[in-house]
Amino acid sequence: MNLKSGILFLSILPLLSCSTAIDLSEEQVPASNDQNPKLVVGITVDQMRYDFLIRYWDDYSEGGFKRLVNQGFTFRNHHFSYSPTYTAPGHASIFTGTTPLIHGIIANDWYDKALGRMIYNCYDSTVFSVGGVGYPGQMSPKNLMSSTIGDELKLFSNNRSKVIGISMKDRGAILPAGHHPDGAYWFDGKDNGKFITSTFYKRSLPQWVIDFNANKLPDFYLSQGWSLLKDVATYDESMQDNNPYESPFNGTLRPVFPYNLDSLRASNGNFDLIKATPHGNALSVDFAIASIVNEGLGLDNYTDLLALSFSSTDFVGHQFGPHARETQDVYLRLDLEIARLLKYLDSEIGIGNYTVFLTADHGGAPVPSLVNDQGWPNDYFNSAALIAELDSLIESKYGLDGAILNYSNEQIFLNEELIALNGLDLNKIEEELAKKAMSYKGVLAALSSGQVLTGNFNDSPLARIQAGFRPNLSGNVMLLFEPGWMEYGRTGTTHGMAYSYDTHVPLLFFGAKIKHGESYAPSRIRDIAPTVSALIQIPFPSGCTGTPLTQVLEK
Ligand code: ZN
Ligand code: ZN
Ligand code: ZN
Repeated sequence: MNLKSGILFLSILPLLSCSTAIDLSEEQVPASNDQNPKLVVGITVDQMRYDFLIRYWDDYSEGGFKRLVNQGFTFRNHHFSYSPTYTAPGHASIFTGTTPLIHGIIANDWYDKALGRMIYNCYDSTVFSVGGVGYPGQMSPKNLMSSTIGDELKLFSNNRSKVIGISMKDRGAILPAGHHPDGAYWFDGKDNGKFITSTFYKRSLPQWVIDFNANKLPDFYLSQGWSLLKDVATYDESMQDNNPYESPFNGTLRPVFPYNLDSLRASNGNFDLIKATPHGNALSVDFAIASIVNEGLGLDNYTDLLALSFSSTDFVGHQFGPHARETQDVYLRLDLEIARLLKYLDSEIGIGNYTVFLTADHGGAPVPSLVNDQGWPNDYFNSAALIAELDSLIESKYGLDGAILNYSNEQIFLNEELIALNGLDLNKIEEELAKKAMSYKGVLAALSSGQVLTGNFNDSPLARIQAGFRPNLSGNVMLLFEPGWMEYGRTGTTHGMAYSYDTHVPLLFFGAKIKHGESYAPSRIRDIAPTVSALIQIPFPSGCTGTPLTQVLEK
């Protein structure tokens, strides 16, 4: 169905000719390298745990994940080297080749010390929606402090290379695309149901985006509902459909197939609903293919970059958890979407003319209540109780009222001004709070900001906290929970921790200039960008701290 609708949609697209501009640039500068791939497609699968590659392997098609693995290079011990492991820092780290310490995207939302309130990683009040109205379009990469692969590509090629970012999520499109792309597009749900951008990028939507939106594919997809792709027996890697560890959609009592999506639209944010179904991924491929056609990606020897992030895996993962049939189904369908994209690239760009890498922005924990029922020693953390106790500690000992301003992302923010005004020692208070926090069940360690800055933690989870810590943005006390602990509802799951379930993700390379092979040698998320830079022979991103994974590159 997806394949068919995609082809149907493509056939009615106006094929814009970009040949004039391209001929001009080829005349002017011989800076291209015809050994390089014409197009690099950087795929991020939101919340893809490494084990999804293995656990569902037998159920995947030959043309999707299996093709990437069987013909490309697989890193099987690939990890995030920082925490918190959230979507925004994940996408930023993949495309900048560094960690939040350097690129500055420390979480999805964080407490802004100067403003005294939470801010969103991509929110920019100085820009406006193009294609929608209000907040969903007021987005830019202004908080991203490093250049990206795409930024370097644009600079290196004197803007002859094209760079596009696409995702259902704003941050999944904006951060990978960097500061000077040819476009970044994300899906505006609610009652709009369209791909939009912001005035940071453009004054108006390109005609092809207007045309794409006019086709109302989201309505079409939602009308298809959501049922299992394959026979129910295929899903024996997952739990029974109706289990107590999943969150039903609003307006339903049971989290079971088949889902009549049209009847769920009203109670689930109308077009937002599509994000939490496999159709969000299909729509993303439709849009990606439309961008390749209409922006003329991969047509000349100036390597172009398409950064494509699949968000629906994350929405489904949060709602149902990594052992639900819904999650298995979203991956089996994503596999077909990847196969469709590769097939399209084969025919339009040509086998051997493009390179794909695929990774994730973080993993995801097994549902804590599920593994707790299986005897694991984890539980849910209650930060409100901890913060109340720490607050009263400061009050009774120092007579300070309201010294804790905020708790978010396992970080405590203190009123540094108040503490200084009272002539108190900030470091000492931080360390006292950390010590007290460590007496709480579920807290394995707590570090003061000074301890984070000066500690030598080797390759432990504490080192990951250190790599995610940015002095001017991060908190005064940082907590490390015990493995498997989280602060969340009892159904569904999340991510953000420094442990393997959140850090271990696939890394696949495939296509032009890529060797066939696999490795269990450790590799890190920040190594991806310099590997791509080495592949296409451009400078590393400005904040890059990774190292090229040279075993993947053909001589
Ligand atoms: Zn994510
Ligand atoms: Zn279910
Ligand atoms: Zn998530």
